[in-house]
Amino acid sequence: MNESQKTDEQVRVRMAPSPTGFLHVGGARTALFNWLFARQHNGTFILRIDDTDAARSTDASMQEIFDALKWLGINWDEKYVQSERRNIYDRYVSQLLDSGHAYYCYCTQEELEEIRTESRKAKSTRSYDGRCRELSSDMVERYVSEGRKPTVRIKIPDRQIRVDDMILGSRNIDPLTLEDEVIVRSNGMPNYNLTSIVDDAEMQITHVIRGTEHLNNTPKQIVIATALGFNLPLFAHIPLVLDDTGRKLSKRHHGDLVAVNRYREQGYLPEAMLNFVARLGWSYDDKQEIFSVDELVEKFDLARVGKSGSVFDIKKLEWLNSHYINQLDVSARTDAVIPFWQQEGLLDATEERDWLERIVDAVGERLTTFQDIIPQTRYFFTDDYEYEPKAVKKWWGSSDEKKQSAREILTNLQQILTDIPTFDLETVESAVWKYTDENDIKRVAAMQAMRIALTGTSFGPSLFDIVVLLGKDEVLKRIDKALANL
Ligand code: GLU
Repeated sequence: MNESQKTDEQVRVRMAPSPTGFLHVGGARTALFNWLFARQHNGTFILRIDDTDAARSTDASMQEIFDALKWLGINWDEKYVQSERRNIYDRYVSQLLDSGHAYYCYCTQEELEEIRTESRKAKSTRSYDGRCRELSSDMVERYVSEGRKPTVRIKIPDRQIRVDDMILGSRNIDPLTLEDEVIVRSNGMPNYNLTSIVDDAEMQITHVIRGTEHLNNTPKQIVIATALGFNLPLFAHIPLVLDDTGRKLSKRHHGDLVAVNRYREQGYLPEAMLNFVARLGWSYDDKQEIFSVDELVEKFDLARVGKSGSVFDIKKLEWLNSHYINQLDVSARTDAVIPFWQQEGLLDATEERDWLERIVDAVGERLTTFQDIIPQTRYFFTDDYEYEPKAVKKWWGSSDEKKQSAREILTNLQQILTDIPTFDLETVESAVWKYTDENDIKRVAAMQAMRIALTGTSFGPSLFDIVVLLGKDEVLKRIDKALANL
């Protein structure tokens, strides 16, 4: 069946995260591609929690995945939790056992280890030789009386397994490369390959869109599905996300760099994250980089998802984020940075909204993330900052003579700012320029000497904005402090 035939019927897709940690950038991409595909076909997007690995699954992780998806705006139409569906899996396992497509395996860990060693010696592609396929009832009785707890294995049939993939094309898998996989552990818990394909069938999933890391699981799932008489969903395996050295992006090697929540905490916008994640493996044309969510729904096309890995380029994410931040008006940007100021303990509730908005306005388009607001504006809230040594050396000078001249400039400016009748932008600016121009002082030298005095650094918003926002008293006080340090 081809895609157009399938998409004529009701599209049902799913994202099936294992709640064993945070939501990974790759997981967000899987969610997004499925969600976009569902939305553009008026289909159903299902969130299925793959938590049959009880030892590694946690509620906290499940909650974190929900939160991250909600933050991204990826809403689900139906939700299932696999650990609540045991009886369904058990029923299908019985069916596989009854029909002879699966069998109990009583091998102990030690025996399995021996089999593995032998098969390695014999250069076999299989690490399990299927010896429990034909156990006599006597043997079974003996094992049971020894208290052995069996696993259940699926029988890999002796024929080629055809895997059709919407992105990677079709392949035939040699059954010798597969082995009789354990589908139920000895503690009775079913394994991923069983639960996954059973749920795909039970939930009438039409398209399984997931990462290429699951490619090896697909033929095993096809074997199980065929044995159970299921219709197969269409498969689409999306390429790996790589770092800039070509290594697969993973929690293990890249830590929280791959955690969606990290970006949320650092002040990235969900729009930027979605736009970024959408372009990991999918391209529209070679030009367009900015896509709104609506545009993604309209333009996303599985047929334009490439086969090869896509590189996670943090610079691009930063660029997208500043683009989306700059789209926001000052009021929205202020709303977004207030929690960052609060977290840093910079606000004491006496600040007026208008003053905060003017600070944000003065910062202008300098924010890559909302967290950048801290280094860029800390000095508005406190005079407890260091004078940056490099800036000091350059603009206050290192020789006595230079220091003396900076001191003179600051003293004169302090006097001028004390004397001006009003402390508004225009009056401040023209008084400062009058002083520099009449005394043949380079404007930049005066500006930077003052900027370091007021902020500790040599860069930031327009100096006159800073002067006015700090207000006369604070400016005069800070110049005093600078003169004492110069
Ligand atoms: N639980 C699997 C994962 O998190 C899901 C794989 C699938 O989509 O089938 O990778």
